[in-house]
Amino acid sequence: MGDAISLAKYSIGVGDRFGRQAKPQLEACIKAANYGVDITPVWNKSNREHTIIGSNPIETRAAADEAVASLGWNKPYYVDADHINFKTVDRFIEPCDFFTIDVADWIGQPVDPTEVQNFLQQHTELAGRFRADCDVVVHIGLKYLAAIQEAARIYRYIEERKGAGKFITEVSMDETDSPQTPTELLVILASLADERVPVQTIAPKFTGRFNKGIDYEGDLEKFADEFSTDIEMIAIAVEEYGLPGNLKLSVHSGSDKFSLYEPMHGILKKHDAGVHLKTAGTNWLEELIGLAEDGEKGLQLVKEIYREAYREREELCGPYAAVIDIDAAQLPRPDLVDSWAADQFVSSLRHDPGSPVYNRSLRQLLHVAFKVAARMGTRYLDALSAAEDWIAKSVMKNLFERHIKPVFIGE
Ligand SMILES: [Zn+2]
Repeated sequence: MGDAISLAKYSIGVGDRFGRQAKPQLEACIKAANYGVDITPVWNKSNREHTIIGSNPIETRAAADEAVASLGWNKPYYVDADHINFKTVDRFIEPCDFFTIDVADWIGQPVDPTEVQNFLQQHTELAGRFRADCDVVVHIGLKYLAAIQEAARIYRYIEERKGAGKFITEVSMDETDSPQTPTELLVILASLADERVPVQTIAPKFTGRFNKGIDYEGDLEKFADEFSTDIEMIAIAVEEYGLPGNLKLSVHSGSDKFSLYEPMHGILKKHDAGVHLKTAGTNWLEELIGLAEDGEKGLQLVKEIYREAYREREELCGPYAAVIDIDAAQLPRPDLVDSWAADQFVSSLRHDPGSPVYNRSLRQLLHVAFKVAARMGTRYLDALSAAEDWIAKSVMKNLFERHIKPVFIGE
């Protein structure tokens, strides 16, 4: 399989809810290339987002292709079927060449105990490696084997339709309650290898909170330690189980984790390891910032979005409960927000942790409020066109200066 597609060392998950900002996202990657750092853009949009907005993966593909053609990008890029499962994968098969197989819901599902015994017999080295008794490995096997089998089932389904080597496989387990330890990660990888899933990126749930659109919350040292050990586990899995040599970690809800970027960069350099960083969510908020900055009309529109989001906050937050953390008491009343000037709105929303007016609850609520904008239909899309220049500037700057630079370039 000489021409099997293989994801480069550095890649970034980009994209935006309405598929309008592919160009400034690609410009951020072009800028990185000018610094001598190649970063592969991967446009991703989850089935959940498509469903809420009423959009289709074909549109994500079209937006990516168009940006690539118009900016003359001649390096690889992909379109990711983000967080798909067996039920939702079908409409992604044609337009996508990257599949994030989400099996978080299968963690802890019952599995035939003899299969766990078989796994254990084939992998006596695992208990030895961790100086653990077999019970530990059995315990992990019982917890994850059903999820791995499901990942394999979905992988084969895609493979039958697209052909082996024609797409990139990611396996994600991040949207669950408890993080996976490095030991668990190695067992998971060993069993993915047994199932012959050529996984190129794996998204575990890391320790601490990875809330959407805001900074990391948790023990930084513990995270760094875990991230570093996960990378070592991946190296072992590649070496011992024959998984693809470019296998790397994928960090979901990876945007805005400013306090992690410096340690992450150091660890990646130290291990000479790659990473995939998913950042798509942050772009929609930059869109709102650009609209508010563009002028009175845009500002009125974002205030209207806030008003409706505030009213529907429970319904909007429901699907994202595991990945947001809003303090309702910190949400300003819409009447108050209506009285704000553009700069007050922008500074409440913009992710500047040092700013006294930055409001992380307002930011998270707006993060999940794209449904309100989707409902506005052409009114919202026309506003995007009118404010295009401001928005493009915000999107590109946020992606390059605040994400790409600290993670991949190290500045
Ligand atoms: Zn995820």
